[in-house]
Amino acid sequence: NTQILLASRPQGEATVDNFQLVVSETPPLQEGQVLVRHHYLSLDPYMRGRMNAGKSYAPPQPLGEVMIGATVGEVVESRHPDYAVGDQVVGMGGWQEYSVVDARQPGVLRKVDTRGACQTLGVESENVPQRGQFLSDSQSHSGAMGQEAGKKWAAAAHSQPTTPKSDRLQVPLSYYLGAVGMPGVTAWYGLVKIIAPKAGDTLVVSAATGAVGSAFAALAKARGCRVVGIAGGSEKCRYALDELGFDACIDYKLHQGDTQSLARALQQDCPQGIDGYFENVGGWIMDAVMLRMNAFSRMALCGMIAGYDGQPLPMRYPALILTQRMRLEGFIVSEHTDVWPQALQELAGLVASGKLRPRETIAQGIAAAPEAFLGMLKGKNLGKQLVKLF
Ligand code: NDP
Repeated sequence: NTQILLASRPQGEATVDNFQLVVSETPPLQEGQVLVRHHYLSLDPYMRGRMNAGKSYAPPQPLGEVMIGATVGEVVESRHPDYAVGDQVVGMGGWQEYSVVDARQPGVLRKVDTRGACQTLGVESENVPQRGQFLSDSQSHSGAMGQEAGKKWAAAAHSQPTTPKSDRLQVPLSYYLGAVGMPGVTAWYGLVKIIAPKAGDTLVVSAATGAVGSAFAALAKARGCRVVGIAGGSEKCRYALDELGFDACIDYKLHQGDTQSLARALQQDCPQGIDGYFENVGGWIMDAVMLRMNAFSRMALCGMIAGYDGQPLPMRYPALILTQRMRLEGFIVSEHTDVWPQALQELAGLVASGKLRPRETIAQGIAAAPEAFLGMLKGKNLGKQLVKLF
């Protein structure tokens, strides 16, 4: 079993030297355990926050242990009656080829099915996040995930309504880590629960073509909004317009850190001002958007990736929050288990109807994970960043 451990904590920018590749034997299974072979590993920005020591909403990744991460794979050995060899499962297997999971713990694995005559999107009862799954970026949030949140995960895993078979839809296995998984639900939560738009509203999202941003566009278009993206580079902006349904996309790299210049571009593409902003980046990009926010607008603070390597992100126009009577709200998607089934069902429908066409950037083999992860933090990914293992 080839594994990637966190070897040291980054001083400033994370590097490949912070990781260590090791090979180990998988231990024999105990009663109640299953052995999962991972097909895909998800690489997510929150992992950068976990590499730091410091207090946050979730504890840091321990040194010398396998890096945390969501995986999809198949059961290859089972000592649990509910899991058979060949079952496909989503879990938190980490940066390794195989994981041994105590399947008796509620919600640690959920079955999905992407094969056979009755293929499903898994939007029924099994498709809820597992306990402790998908904890996100630590930069701007504090307070560890407490026992209460943990209990909510467990409860959610057993209390979701079942979708009728006729609603079952087809999806590739890897999408459970992206559009029809945690990043998709993140977009849904910020849009529906915080921005709460009306048809005709103008909405803006940064990191527009990533896993979260691309789902946001499809969900916002489905609500009759004008959706403007901010992304890095002409290729990403073209993809946003041609495939993701954005009404406009601004290449922030053309503005080279000039807040006023980006604000002018936003004025052109948002002639009625901005009613809702879904923030993934922070810093000067957020400043530029703030300058165009309408009175009584809403801002969902989802991520601030521009600061994850320790860069300071001062807010230059806080007074606008007051003068424009804005509402800003941060959130951690894993704490809102109640919305997951509803959100996943809508996302699944958008994928099935072709209204959400997510792309993936796939690195090959576990040894490629550190470089792919660091590349994703720098925008080298187009869409969801994954590692293909088997
Ligand atoms: P993405 O697929 O969007 O990948 C990250 C992207 O961030 C890069 O491709 C890059 O896009 C952009 N980026 C990186 N650095 C900068 C920078 N300095 N300035 C501008 N853009 C930058 O990742 P996800 O969709 O998985 O995550 C998007 C955001 O959502 C992140 O901030 C993440 O932390 C947050 N998140 C929050 C959750 C929550 O519960 N609150 C849950 C999940 C995600 P580009 O090339 O366009 O710059």
